[in-house]
Amino acid sequence: MSDSPTDALQRQLQALTDQFAERLRNELPSLARHADELAEARDMTRLTPLMQALREQLHKLAGSAGTFGFPQLGEQARQLERQADLWLEALEPGQHSLSSFIGAVHRFAREGLVHTGDDQPLAPFNAQAAGRRVLLLDPDADAAARTRQTLENFGYQVSLCEAIDQLPTCIERNRPDALIASLLDGVDELARIARLQDARPEPLPLMVVAADADFATQLTAVRAGAQGFFTRPLDITQLESRLERSLNRQQGEQYRVMIIDDDTDLVARYSLVLRSAQMQVEQLDDVTRLFETMQAFNPEVVLLDINMPGCSGPELAQMIRLHDDWLRVPIIYLSAETDVGRQMDALLKAGDDFITKPISDRALVSAVYSHAQRARTLSLALARDSLTGLLKHAGIKEQLALEVQRAHRSGRPASVVMLDIDHFKKVNDSHGHAAGDNVIRSLANLLRQRLRRIDSLGRYGGEEFMAVLPDCPASEAKKVFDQIRRHFADLVFSAGEQSFHVTLSAGICETDGTRPAGELLERADKALYAAKHGGRDQVRVAS
Ligand code: GH3
Ligand code: MG
Ligand code: MG
Repeated sequence: MSDSPTDALQRQLQALTDQFAERLRNELPSLARHADELAEARDMTRLTPLMQALREQLHKLAGSAGTFGFPQLGEQARQLERQADLWLEALEPGQHSLSSFIGAVHRFAREGLVHTGDDQPLAPFNAQAAGRRVLLLDPDADAAARTRQTLENFGYQVSLCEAIDQLPTCIERNRPDALIASLLDGVDELARIARLQDARPEPLPLMVVAADADFATQLTAVRAGAQGFFTRPLDITQLESRLERSLNRQQGEQYRVMIIDDDTDLVARYSLVLRSAQMQVEQLDDVTRLFETMQAFNPEVVLLDINMPGCSGPELAQMIRLHDDWLRVPIIYLSAETDVGRQMDALLKAGDDFITKPISDRALVSAVYSHAQRARTLSLALARDSLTGLLKHAGIKEQLALEVQRAHRSGRPASVVMLDIDHFKKVNDSHGHAAGDNVIRSLANLLRQRLRRIDSLGRYGGEEFMAVLPDCPASEAKKVFDQIRRHFADLVFSAGEQSFHVTLSAGICETDGTRPAGELLERADKALYAAKHGGRDQVRVAS
């Protein structure tokens, strides 16, 4: 019998619940035993620590029971915990309140195991398909051919659809990652596309090309799920820029979440739930290894328990906040603490949010997801150049140093490439600064599309780029960059009524196992200079 991912997840969750029920079979009698000890203790010096220990035990139970499908039991534990608190805080604790508390704990320990389960089955998030297939709906065959050519230069796989009547069949056949719709009349066709989109489990990223940018057309476009809107004459490089952004948004890497909680059953459950939502999870077992683990895993969100043996959650959060490197990582407390005052205290010390246990699987996933998403957007914005989305000068130099060291260790050659746009001043002078920016952005996108995921790419300066290609000898790199050079020269840019072409030059240098990064960069730069002097529109390898 086949087993769907949802079934498998449900089975794993059930196994964890069973495991927790097993734990309860020990935990509840131990609560009863502690209650007995309380009943036997006579003086306050003995009573207070016993009560504190019992309170801790109830606190943990209150946090975990609801999560594992025992919400009533969790709620009862929480009420008992409050009674314990009241007793501990009272100046002259009475014998009567103690006896009634002990009775309540005994009843609780007897009647514990009632499993109700409040969570909906959790559907796994869709894993994003890799690949960049684009379907182009365009009744104008000539225009379609031009758009297709340009997008293929960028590295997309493009299929064509001539009429809107054929659109459902084309989508069915080509299974595109995105749809570009070039429309004749606008509103009617968009309404049809909206209906197609509604029928899908998830809408296709849509770019709309229309004759007019009037209000009604743009509104219908948004309703059809448009993520970009363009009018004719179409600036294809700008469209490509939009397309890339929406596809990248879809195919991001998994979010990295670190969990710090001394309750191993809870950690197992949270990990499972977050992993099934396509997140990467690392747990920290030994708090003294906090920074090593963070360094190695590079979390984008930290989930932190408040009460742990050894040190508290807020203390750990404050330690994390001592380091500038981790300022951008949101810290979320996961705790059974319901006292708002104490929650506030924890947040004032350090930390960004508070999630109260028990938490449902869905609530956990959405809380972590939204924090991770925000953190990633921010850290990308900080490290990346805003025009091109590439690494900034310092970032790519750092990457170069890392890759050169790696190449030296592995003995496999890497290539360093310096690239500069030819006569770029003229582009600005003849077509304006905005057109110049568009050229820079298009080259960045072209490079991103044509290079491998393991390659590093940065905007070194105004119209200068640097790439580092690990495991790639200079002869290989030359082939790749000659191809990029030809594709770039083929791109048609437009500024107002005019269209124009631009070329680039590049210099390449290969690592040799000894030379430091700075020297390699200098040699690549010299090769670039030689390419410029040799007439531009060419790629040279350092001799
Ligand atoms: P060469 O072929 O020798 O490289 O000629 P060039 O004109 O490209 O020479 P140069 O490197 O001196 O000129 C670069 C120009 O790029 C100067 C600067 O105005 C322009 N520039 C730098 N950054 C940007 C930018 O972000 N946007 C735009 N539009 N222009 C920029
Ligand atoms: Mg230049
Ligand atoms: Mg330059």
